[in-house]
Amino acid sequence: MLPKSTLYVVATPIGNLRDISLRALDVLAAVDVIAAEDTRTTAHLLTHHSIAGKMIALHQHNERAAAEKVLALLAKGKSVALVTDAGTPGISDPGAILVNLAHEHGYRVTPIPGANAALCALSAGGITEPHFLFYGFLPPKTGARKRTLEGLKLQPYTLVFYEAPHRILGCVMDLVAVLGAHRQLTLARELTKLFETIHVCTLGDALAWLQADANQQKGEFVLLLSGAETQDKSGISDQTRHTLELLLENLPLKQAVRLAAEITGESRKILYALALSLKVESLV
Ligand code: SAM
Repeated sequence: MLPKSTLYVVATPIGNLRDISLRALDVLAAVDVIAAEDTRTTAHLLTHHSIAGKMIALHQHNERAAAEKVLALLAKGKSVALVTDAGTPGISDPGAILVNLAHEHGYRVTPIPGANAALCALSAGGITEPHFLFYGFLPPKTGARKRTLEGLKLQPYTLVFYEAPHRILGCVMDLVAVLGAHRQLTLARELTKLFETIHVCTLGDALAWLQADANQQKGEFVLLLSGAETQDKSGISDQTRHTLELLLENLPLKQAVRLAAEITGESRKILYALALSLKVESLV
């Protein structure tokens, strides 16, 4: 028996129908009503797990009106599960309006966690930076997309984008045009599905990789893009400084500077000055 008047926000799979928690299945089987983005998609999931549920549609184009229906159900003491076609509701998906209204009306809202394409890509995408900025979908048209990217250009965090197959080439072209060719890009495609692909490259190489095989342009994408390199007052990036520090720990100063210059492309003179100041700092 579930508590009365509760809205459950239930994550569903992003491809593989077995990527759903036992608790999500329990809740979907027990609630009075399931509010689904596309009732056919959810019917497929429910049938796969032998669950019979009463559904109503709640999607981008009717969310406010459907939310009122859900509130009326909650007012009668019913329990409702909110699901979308894939992943976690409210994350680049409908759900936020209903959840917000449910809180406003004082109903209990309980998340049932599970799959999310962005976190799935971040966990397996080879990103070593601990911070990220989830952006979701960029604007579909190139002008607005480039303007948005200009606004994100200096963010030092890994940028996380969602993209659809018919826009992937245009999107990558704009990324190169605005952010340059050198950043690391992870293309995470069709996660948890048959043609799952996780490809790590530079932005400059991404277009050629996508164009070399048209199959790689199909399906759903998460793009992970390394953030802007931060620089200290001398113009030396954190990464260059870190490289030099590591080399100094293990090598004589001159050798560390020579190697750091080769690895990073930074001038030996500047690195030598930095190495001296680091040595002094370590003595203090
Ligand atoms: N709510 C979902 C979540 O929690 O990830 C996202 C829904 S959003 C409408 C759909 C977008 O998520 C797709 O266009 C794609 O960018 C990304 N996505 C969803 N499933 C994916 C998958 N299996 N592999 C890669 N990206 C996926």
